[in-house]
Amino acid sequence: MKITNFHKPARLMPNKDDKSEYHQEFYNKVESDEQWIRLSDGCFRSCWNCYCPKDKLSYDLPIIEKNKVRFLDMNFLYAHSDPKAILDKLSKIKVNNKIVRYAFLCGLDFTLLSLEIVQLCKKARIGRFNNKGHWINGLTIAWDRGIEEKENIIESIKLIESVGYDKRNIACFMLCNGKISYINCLLKLKILKMLRVQIQDCWYDNQKRGSINPIFWTKEECDMFGKLCRSHNIAIIQNQYDSMDLIYYNEMNKPNKDETEMRCR
Ligand code: SF4
Repeated sequence: MKITNFHKPARLMPNKDDKSEYHQEFYNKVESDEQWIRLSDGCFRSCWNCYCPKDKLSYDLPIIEKNKVRFLDMNFLYAHSDPKAILDKLSKIKVNNKIVRYAFLCGLDFTLLSLEIVQLCKKARIGRFNNKGHWINGLTIAWDRGIEEKENIIESIKLIESVGYDKRNIACFMLCNGKISYINCLLKLKILKMLRVQIQDCWYDNQKRGSINPIFWTKEECDMFGKLCRSHNIAIIQNQYDSMDLIYYNEMNKPNKDETEMRCR
């Protein structure tokens, strides 16, 4: 399904000042083998890059007609009046006698996760759809703010993993070329590297990697961060970080460690 401005997330809209492009209303569209739904509107944060309205609105769950469902909510856990009941309902739905798989396109607010919520997400088969549209056992979360949320994200990733999600399939949105500085984003990337979590870099003003117009960062920073994101994800998917860390650890803990250090110089 082609993403139009109508159902593009407010945080990625091309022009923050053009509020007319964000439609604050229920959405339910069935096309081909997918269904796209918006169940809520609103977010409490007022991030600089986003014009999601602050007031909360909840909409009724429509009839689920497809086995693949994407939700367009900006901050479902905050804005919906009863997210737990919705997740519970979703877990029980079958279409054509087959289970239904779901994803939240904009990710879930990791600061609002609890053990009960992630358990309900797992039970409801809330996951991610990859580029080919195949469901994968991971969650999408968004980390648009700064490194000061480091401890919070570490705890949230542990929580997500504890209910059976594959950590390597967790993907973290990170807004690049924005008011969160390049250095701050590098520090965030380092945390994701330590956690072995993929990054979904999204570029301010709705640009794409490879054709970035530097706005808040320099061109060199944009180019370097794009390359780092690509290498980071390949390393996570292919387990390269694990092997590199292991080699390093073994080398540094050999009985003849001094010799190793000499060779490495
Ligand atoms: S947390 Fe997300 S939805 Fe909420 S204001 Fe920030 S970018 Fe927008």
